[in-house]
Order: sequence, then structure tokens, then C-alpha cells
Amino acid sequence: MGGCGSGRYADTFNYTVEDCLDIDISLMIRRRWLSPGCNSTGTLRWTRNKEETGSIGYKARLGFNPAYIGLFYTWKKTEELDYKVFLTKTYPNYGGFRYWFSCPSCGKCVRKLYSAPGSGYFFCRTCQNLTYTSCRESHQFDTLFARIAFDTGLPIYAAKEALKRLF
Ligand SMILES: [Zn+2]
Repeated sequence: MGGCGSGRYADTFNYTVEDCLDIDISLMIRRRWLSPGCNSTGTLRWTRNKEETGSIGYKARLGFNPAYIGLFYTWKKTEELDYKVFLTKTYPNYGGFRYWFSCPSCGKCVRKLYSAPGSGYFFCRTCQNLTYTSCRESHQFDTLFARIAFDTGLPIYAAKEALKRLF
């Protein structure tokens, strides 16, 4: 896989972090799903309005060097994904240490990884081409673009480009 910016993951182009499933390493440590030096296994689940929107399995290997978390799940009910996200440890001035995800696509150290709708993988915000809602320009036509993309089979950004030429 190339570095950040070298590839655009098809229709993940215009999503925001709020549209994504995310994994927060600080949260996993705080909730003791991960503990330094230990191996653990579990399931991460996401819900919206009490309905499950996604779930993945993880195998944390923090006793290994380098430490990593294996993620495994079925993508679009057909593809079995199973890959490692390596962890980086830093030692801040105030003592102790912190874990970071090393983005599986670009290697950047990040606290959160995201899986945008349409992207099967958990990557950093940059690799998923995400923005925050507050930073978005006008997106009043997004539903329309998504609908056209769905009807035509085009990626959303291509549908958008095609429509811009009409206006
Ligand atoms: Zn990345």
C-alpha cells in the first residue's frame, strides 16, 4: 500500500469523522480492554440509536515486540479481513507512557483509526480523506450525490464532478 495521499479510497472521499466507525486507543486502554504487556481478545461494537452499526474482533498482542492489535471481521458479508495494526509507545515528559496506533496505510502515529462507509479498512483520518463536519463547505446536495452515485455505480466524487458540469 502506498503512503498517505497516494491513493484515494474510492467513495470515502467526502465523509466526515462522524460518519465513520472509529477505534480510539486511549479509550481501549482506559476501559482496560488493552493492558500493557498483556494479550487480550474481544469484540468492538458500534451502535447508533441502540442499533448495532458494526462489530469487529480484535486480538491485542501487547506482550509482543513490536506490539500490535490484530483486527478481523467480515467486510460486506463476503470478504474476510484480518490484518495487524502495529502500536507505537511514547514516553511523555510527565511520566509513564502512551500507546499510539501506527496507521496500517501510512504508518503515522495516531490515537484514532477510522473506517469510512465504503472503506473496508481502519486507517488514519488523512488516509480516509476525512474532514470534520464544522470544516465542511456546503454539503446540502450530499444525499443527492450519494443517491446518484448509488444509481450509477460511480464513486460519489465522480457523481459530484459530473453534476457540477451541468450547473
Ligand atoms: Zn494513514
